[in-house]
Amino acid sequence: MSDCLFCGIVNGSIKADVVYRDETVIAFKDIVPRAPVHVLIIPTAHIAMLSDLTPNDDKIVAAVFRATGKLAEQLGVAKSGYRIVVNCGADAGQTVFHLHYHLLGGRQMGWPPG
Ligand code: AMP
Ligand code: ZN
Repeated sequence: MSDCLFCGIVNGSIKADVVYRDETVIAFKDIVPRAPVHVLIIPTAHIAMLSDLTPNDDKIVAAVFRATGKLAEQLGVAKSGYRIVVNCGADAGQTVFHLHYHLLGGRQMGWPPG
């Protein structure tokens, strides 16, 4: 999608600190990290939010989750613990409407989130 920030990262027109990439998934460091480890894991296909997923996207969702688990190991937080966050819509604070999973770790996190 031409006016989407994260599609720009996928196609290389916007620079990002990419930590993982394959055909289906890209992960890159969040530009405003909220924890010592904070990466965003996104499908390379433009899907705005969870409620837009269709059964055709099942393989994409599986690939994103598999990459998330592998990244937690690679980034050294699999044992200490980490959190996956998907903000959906205005009340949750979603600002970029290209589906993305926040992977946060490297510090103690509170519950419930604010
Ligand atoms: P959300 O609020 O859940 O939609 O998350 C969007 C995230 O994208 C925020 O944590 C931003 O800090 C992050 N972000 C915005 N622009 C960039 C960028 N150019 N590179 C990396 N992360 C970004
Ligand atoms: Zn997009």
